[in-house]
Amino acid sequence: MRARTRYLGDFHWEGVASRLYKAEAAGFRDVVRQVLADAAELPGELRYFEVAAAGRTTLERHEHAHTVVVLRGRGRALVGEEIVDLRPFDVVCVGRGRWHQFRASPAEPLGFLCLVAHARDRPVEPDAEELRGLRTKPRIAAFLDS
Ligand code: MN
Repeated sequence: MRARTRYLGDFHWEGVASRLYKAEAAGFRDVVRQVLADAAELPGELRYFEVAAAGRTTLERHEHAHTVVVLRGRGRALVGEEIVDLRPFDVVCVGRGRWHQFRASPAEPLGFLCLVAHARDRPVEPDAEELRGLRTKPRIAAFLDS
């Protein structure tokens, strides 16, 4: 376990690779992941995600939870049936089984730390019927179309 991972500025850390996130998946755009801490002694991982301006993460749900801390930019998130606007240092808790998606503002990237358990289930995207169900709520439909 490294005692310190030096911050290099511009949302990069020493020795940490930036990887395009889920490059093969549909329904998301321009998300880069850096794994900041993935030690065997801990039950979880700390990652930094950056969603490019106007980009978005996958609309998904899973049985594990996320805790997110925004570090840069502005954006919005769908969490369950809630839509919240985001700015730096806001904390977002995504509970088990809740649909969620993060969207960056058109003007700047949205960067956030995300804490997640090592042992976790695979994310699932909504099928056509679930998507129709989500879209029956006008606020959620507007969010998904934004
Ligand atoms: Mn997720």
